[in-house]
Amino acid sequence: MTAALDTRLGIAKMKIAMIGTGYVGLVSGVCFSDFGHEVVCVDKDPRKIEMLERGEVPIYEPGLDVLMHKNVEAGRLSFTLDLASAIDGADAVFIAVGTPTRRGDGHADLTYVMAAAEEIAKAAKDYVVIVTKSTVPVGTNRKVKDVVAAANPALDFDVASNPEFLREGAAIDDFMKPDRVVVGVETDRAAAVMSEIYRPLYLRDFPIVTTDLESAEMIKYAANAFLATKITFINEIAALCEKVGADVKSVSKGMGMDGRIGNKFLHAGPGYGGSCFPKDTKALARIGQEHASPISIVETVIKVNEDVKRRMIDKLSDLCDGGFNGKTVAVLGVTFKPNTDDMRDAPSLTIVPALVGGGANVRVVDPQGKREGEHLLPGVSWMEDPYAAAEGADLLVILTEWNEFRALDLTRIAGSMAQARMADLRNIYALADAEAAGFTGYESIGRAGYGS
Ligand code: NAD
Repeated sequence: MTAALDTRLGIAKMKIAMIGTGYVGLVSGVCFSDFGHEVVCVDKDPRKIEMLERGEVPIYEPGLDVLMHKNVEAGRLSFTLDLASAIDGADAVFIAVGTPTRRGDGHADLTYVMAAAEEIAKAAKDYVVIVTKSTVPVGTNRKVKDVVAAANPALDFDVASNPEFLREGAAIDDFMKPDRVVVGVETDRAAAVMSEIYRPLYLRDFPIVTTDLESAEMIKYAANAFLATKITFINEIAALCEKVGADVKSVSKGMGMDGRIGNKFLHAGPGYGGSCFPKDTKALARIGQEHASPISIVETVIKVNEDVKRRMIDKLSDLCDGGFNGKTVAVLGVTFKPNTDDMRDAPSLTIVPALVGGGANVRVVDPQGKREGEHLLPGVSWMEDPYAAAEGADLLVILTEWNEFRALDLTRIAGSMAQARMADLRNIYALADAEAAGFTGYESIGRAGYGS
């Protein structure tokens, strides 16, 4: 270990290279530098590196800019396009590149991970731990080991699996105060490097689960698939609530108070989306099929989630007298959740094209979604102000529950619309609020509505 000891804190200052400066790599790199380590973040996208060198953050993540500036100024954090210089003398190199769904078969596409592994192998000179932070199928770390050994047979190295559990929108808190850190290793030497890197968390009693490579890889997929299942479960219960006259908010509350169930990820909505759940459920289902051990429950979750999104379109259509042609629809929120600019697999990417395709004139308001959303949602008008978007519209749709949309003046909105109808797909208002404000139609998820 080449690390120097910070005697003041008793923490060895590690030298870390972070490959990939996306949502995970950038947050992890910034937070590791805040632990006191020396971190160089690498990306192959010159636009991102230029922005970072200018002090600009390429993604929207609350608090990231402040923490990044602090650590750049302290001399612990830097950015480069040059992978070889970044890993020179590094104790650990983290691979945090994308693992999107491979076209056609649902498998995770490991092209970027393997390319990064090969580049690391060719550039590394001394002992280093190559850590996979990207979400990867079971067995990938062993493949990384083979790729590195083949590309640089003389290199002394270990691999480690260190899946990331942060949530966009709360990423810094999740990284700094994790429920747990998972580390999969094969050797004591790699375990020692990883425990030094995470020592600041260990010292504050955050649990570190140290296990083998395969179990670490499986923990990540199993955790995400479980959460996607929980969301999908409550979405199906919501559909039944609508039929039997129950209120899914009360049902979630009553269920969630059971300590064995818990209240998180139990909010009915328009279907899960985002950069992880859709691709990770598909990848886990695929791994199961390949090993003749199908995870039928996850296969069903994937199908039901598609049904949920389609049900939303029917709901909107019902509120528009059975069709969208010629209607003006104001959509509030298109990112897959609030406090991020990430549009990957957002429910809006299914719902908004159905509106546009059906002949609606669609106005979109999103505090951060425009930059990504502009090319993903052709044919819509982007607006800044929810009130202006609702003016003269036939339907108001709340699709992502940004705080900006939680306390709207509903009376003002209803009074300005051509048809005062609302689809509240995140259950942020109550039916009584809509009625009192003068809406002639209101539908939400798993609760009573009217006017459709
Ligand atoms: P991202 O697409 O935002 O970022 C990936 C970055 O890697 C890009 O900037 C890309 O240019 C860069 N890159 C690709 N190949 C490279 C190479 N050879 N050298 C240098 N840079 C390279 O992806 P993300 O959302 O940060 O996700 C990364 C991984 O983390 C995925 O496996 C994902 O499943 C996992 N993960 C994501 C989240 C999340 O909330 N986004 C949470 C937990 C885990």
